[in-house]
Amino acid sequence: SVPAFSTIPRRKTLVCFKFQIRSMASHIVGYPRVGPKRELKFALESFWDGKSSAEELQKVAAGLRVSIWKQMADAGIKYIPSNTFSYYDQVLDTTAMLGAVPSRYGWGGGEIGFDIYFSMARGNASVPAMEMTKWFDTNYHYIVPELGPDVEFSYASHKAVQEYKEAKALGIDTVPVLIGPVSYLSLSKLAKGVEKSFSLLSLIDKILPVYKKVVAELKAAGASWIQFDEPTLVMDLDSHKLHAFTHAYKELESSVSGLNVLIETYFADLPAEAYNIVTSLKGVTAIGFDLVRGSKTLDLIKNGFPPGKYLFAGVVDGRNIWANDLDASLSTLHGLEGVVGKDKLVVSTSCSLLHTAVDLVNETKLDKELKSWLAFAAQKLLEVNALAKALAGLKDEAFFSANAAAQASRKSSPRVTNEAVQKATAAVKGSDHRRATNVSTRLEAQQKKLNLPMLPTTTIGSFPQTLGLRKVRREYKASKISVEEYAKAITEEIKEVVKLQEELGIDVLVHGEPERNDMVEYFGEQLSGFAFTVNGWVQSYGSRCVKPPIIYGDVSRPKAMTVFWSTLAQSMTNRPMKGMLTGPVTILNWSFVRNDQPRFETCYQIALAIKDEVEDLEKAGINVIQIDEAALREGLPLRKSEQAFYLDWAVHSFRITNCDVQDTTQIHTHMCYSNFNDIIRSIIDMDADVITIENSRSDEKLLSVFHEGVKYGAGMGPGVYDIHSPRIPSTEEIAERINKMLGVLDSKILWVNPDCGLKTRKYSEVKPALSNMVAAAELARMQL
Ligand code: GLN
Ligand code: ZN
Repeated sequence: SVPAFSTIPRRKTLVCFKFQIRSMASHIVGYPRVGPKRELKFALESFWDGKSSAEELQKVAAGLRVSIWKQMADAGIKYIPSNTFSYYDQVLDTTAMLGAVPSRYGWGGGEIGFDIYFSMARGNASVPAMEMTKWFDTNYHYIVPELGPDVEFSYASHKAVQEYKEAKALGIDTVPVLIGPVSYLSLSKLAKGVEKSFSLLSLIDKILPVYKKVVAELKAAGASWIQFDEPTLVMDLDSHKLHAFTHAYKELESSVSGLNVLIETYFADLPAEAYNIVTSLKGVTAIGFDLVRGSKTLDLIKNGFPPGKYLFAGVVDGRNIWANDLDASLSTLHGLEGVVGKDKLVVSTSCSLLHTAVDLVNETKLDKELKSWLAFAAQKLLEVNALAKALAGLKDEAFFSANAAAQASRKSSPRVTNEAVQKATAAVKGSDHRRATNVSTRLEAQQKKLNLPMLPTTTIGSFPQTLGLRKVRREYKASKISVEEYAKAITEEIKEVVKLQEELGIDVLVHGEPERNDMVEYFGEQLSGFAFTVNGWVQSYGSRCVKPPIIYGDVSRPKAMTVFWSTLAQSMTNRPMKGMLTGPVTILNWSFVRNDQPRFETCYQIALAIKDEVEDLEKAGINVIQIDEAALREGLPLRKSEQAFYLDWAVHSFRITNCDVQDTTQIHTHMCYSNFNDIIRSIIDMDADVITIENSRSDEKLLSVFHEGVKYGAGMGPGVYDIHSPRIPSTEEIAERINKMLGVLDSKILWVNPDCGLKTRKYSEVKPALSNMVAAAELARMQL
């Protein structure tokens, strides 16, 4: 759907004002593919379930592509990307393009079809999926290529060329987008069995021939531009890696001659060395920079940009949902015009819009004022075009003044600023917050009160969320059932969960989180300063999307959020009941965060709100409180130079939440799997009494990490079984895991728990699994 204030259709303009069109240079790095109402998700899942055919899936996909291209053309975008659509993931698409299918999928050559493609993505009956990992510091996950010296590359997916032709048939000449060869290799891992010393970058000369073929076909099809995404350039790179860029693009030079080649970089500033390399690449005529996250890149550009090359200036934020400050962007752009020349400046997004929500038009529940502060992908197209038009001397005054009014209303709104919160936050900055005594003293005081056995058992919080339970929450939200009926249903559920845990013999119980849809949303809905969308979905992986809350104002907690349910649950048992909270860093990292104050300030505000909750739980007689920081590592900046600062305020925020509880109150924290090795010091510095960490997918790599924890003395609960799989682990298997851990960890500090929450599992899986877990703990206790 095209909002009413869009510009006149482009083709018409082309005829009348040829010159103006040439100068209105606008570009979009990439666009969400899932659809404004997650159409692709539903089409994919229906296909996977065997409920619809491949043709039906292809039809939905083609419809989405067409509507996106048309939307961009109608918005007046000049450089419209193609091949940014994907059935699953753009890195997997590249793997398919290069024919780099791991042998276990039994690919027999030829063009890669859905069967092989989705087997790699999701596994099949006999072979598990390829590994998935986070795309830089986003919440998007890509399928990790598995490469080694024996991989034979071949041109096995013509998707890029097909998409280019598909758009061309509609009269839209696009810029085909490929993941650049160096970034592709840098994002890969060594296939099983390959020598650790093997350099993935040494494969560059093997993959370039395929890239050359793709380029040749694109040229033959009429392409005049090509975009290589090389986000790896923003990382800390050694000279060996930097040299790979020079080598690769020199190799490609003759193939791309006659084409305009755009190298896109995004997600951070460019280090000076990388800037020097990318601006002097052979055959490259244009470079795109993220100017939202990269304020230092601007200085580099001002100090020198190669004459004759295009600068694609990413001034419209692809990672957030805020309306652009158009006046500020325009002045940045004017400054750049002076450096690179009027005809060489192109207005762009900071990165692909894949990482923002799709279209504000579908937000029926946000009020008008708040909506005026926002721009989703569809609105960002209009912003990019408005800026390009303004540069060309065709400023849409009405559009700009509406934007300026929205910026001003956001700045002065009492909904945004809460003096008391600002004051309280200012007071925590700079000072330290720690519990009064050390962890060993506290654990001793806690043990006196809790009287737990050795190797205590617990779970991470959620219990299976049955269809019935989801229905109850949905109907309550839609006011179809009364608050009494809702409370009764949730109470019943908690009763069941408590009873089950007592029967199983678990030592520290949970209430099961039946009242929560999502661990961030639940808190956001009760905190001030948060807003929620109905369709603000962002792809996380494959068909999975998340709908991050929007933090628009100072955060405070009007009233207790979990005390009612936690105390109710505690009243049902004599065993300790864990209070369950989501930590400030995780709430921050899984939300769209305001851009009008530093992230750490918002984080401190959330921390103070959670602190209120912790203290209310303690007052209400809850002696064990878990504060989940599932996403602590997710916020880690890409560049080493910025990591210490982040870790410092993130860990500080966590400590703020519980610094004032009594020694006898036991604070747990939980973290989902990520690469902890480099942040273990920070985890310990959180000063929690018990740390549970997802562990079973990591091949025991984490044990050395936990070893660090031993010196510190806190309780450690490395997950003893994988909750992501329906498989039921045997008692022996869990006991073996526990014994392995006892080889590294003191028996006095080891806890026994699953990897993560159980909400996605079925009771038929959870009951026997937990029963085996308790039996394994008992077995291990007897052997102590
Ligand atoms: N307490 C949450 C749960 O059990 C933690 C989830 C998570 O770590 N992602 O569901
Ligand atoms: Zn987890």
